[in-house]
Amino acid sequence: MPIRRFTDLCGPDAGSAGAGMVAVQPIGAVEHHGPHLPLATDAIIAEAVSEAVIDEARGVPLQLLPTLSYALSSEHLWAPGTVTLRAETLLAVLDDVGASLARAGVPRLVFVNGHGGNSALLRVACREIRVRHGLMTFLVHPSMPVDQGGTGRHDAEGGFAIHGAAGETSMVMHLRPDLVDLGRAERSIPDWLGGYDHIGFGGEVSFGWSSNDIAPSGVIGDPTLATAELGKQLFEGAVGRLAPIMEEISRFSFPGARPAPR
Ligand SMILES: [Zn+2]
Repeated sequence: MPIRRFTDLCGPDAGSAGAGMVAVQPIGAVEHHGPHLPLATDAIIAEAVSEAVIDEARGVPLQLLPTLSYALSSEHLWAPGTVTLRAETLLAVLDDVGASLARAGVPRLVFVNGHGGNSALLRVACREIRVRHGLMTFLVHPSMPVDQGGTGRHDAEGGFAIHGAAGETSMVMHLRPDLVDLGRAERSIPDWLGGYDHIGFGGEVSFGWSSNDIAPSGVIGDPTLATAELGKQLFEGAVGRLAPIMEEISRFSFPGARPAPR
């Protein structure tokens, strides 16, 4: 069955299909992921997982929106190849998307986020879109970032599977092996962070960082542990986890919810 894409609908159908629809918005990044991965890594993962989830959750009225590849990558701005929107630009773009979907009568919008650096702003956007435009909004990740309560993909990474690491590299090896050069992958674990008790990724004290503050290569993790087999496992795990989540999102509502403003 072909993937249900919002942009394949004609205008009148988008309006009439809107009522029960869950709009699925993949969002990634165009950013440095070390010498072994493509700039589009996060967008590739978010889009492929979204497509597979829509295929898997056939009974759920999901519609795929075009992938937002440009996002918030200020922490990799130092590295050539990174193309980022400013936080205020991305927030404005997301708000405009929410407003437009509200005009089509779409009640639910879920972000499938492939880049941990987007998460904080997406949480703000979810709330703003809810309050300003009346949509019910949701945020999910193909894999929960380690600094946001996720678990590392590989014990040998010591909880530092943050960026361009084994999990992410494995996923791209599964999805686009032609774009991975594992021969250029290097282990880059910030052992020095272990010297702090409270400040750290996912610690009690969060901190602002640029990826070259953590390691000169900008990679945080051990991509040399990556395999296509692990990527397949992670990909299928993400799809299996997200399909029932989408079903729940499709029937979620607030008691006594007010109608969406048009
Ligand atoms: Zn990434």
